[in-house]
Amino acid sequence: MRELPETLSHAYLITGGSEGSRREYARRMAQAYLCQGEHPPCGRCLPCRKVAEGIHPDVSWVAPAEGKREINVEQARMIRTDVYIRPNEGKRKVYILDPADSLNPAAQNALLKVLEEGPPYGAFLLLAGQQGKLLDTIRSRCEHLALPPEEEPVDPQRLQKGARLARLLLEGDELEVAEGLAALEQEKLKPAQLAELLAVAEEQAARSLALQPVRASAVVRALKTCRENAVYNPGAGHVLGWLAATLHA
Ligand SMILES: [Zn+2]
Repeated sequence: MRELPETLSHAYLITGGSEGSRREYARRMAQAYLCQGEHPPCGRCLPCRKVAEGIHPDVSWVAPAEGKREINVEQARMIRTDVYIRPNEGKRKVYILDPADSLNPAAQNALLKVLEEGPPYGAFLLLAGQQGKLLDTIRSRCEHLALPPEEEPVDPQRLQKGARLARLLLEGDELEVAEGLAALEQEKLKPAQLAELLAVAEEQAARSLALQPVRASAVVRALKTCRENAVYNPGAGHVLGWLAATLHA
């Protein structure tokens, strides 16, 4: 996943990747705007968690109305009015236009002014698969961030490794888990690889929910939180240590 910019501008055009990765990136940007932690986005403070759960009152996802293909001019005017109402609880007010290439030309024109000279706390994330549909005047008012192409699908070996990790966490005692995680740490996985491994293990552990509801839900929860943190945290050791500690708290 592409790194977030160091200082945040008020408007970004986010292209590339897949629809899913653009959304995930926008969610992290929204966290970065609103985070109260030391290293935004920390992923752990209240605003970060609210953004992740989609319940932060200062983050609005704007999409075409149900059954419609375009974000229309009324929606754009609503944003234009709403942005001048100060944030509810955060320091910024974030609008995520998803997808921005569904803004029809009238809607784009209605947004030009706030993109250029909206209130200082306003932030706009325009997600687009095809930026060609956006007016030059819109594009020139946004900083452009191109996400890398989607990564390869999970290979069978990694699938096996994820399943092994899930089994260890579900069935191992404290010592076995500690040893297994220490061995994993020795592999010096990159953050993206670790996040992927944790995602596979989470999927596998979720299959045991019916059989071992208490244990499996604790494992799934721990893996999910660790996976989310793996994206922010540089050290695999830290993430894995945290995983062991959470499971045997
Ligand atoms: Zn935070």
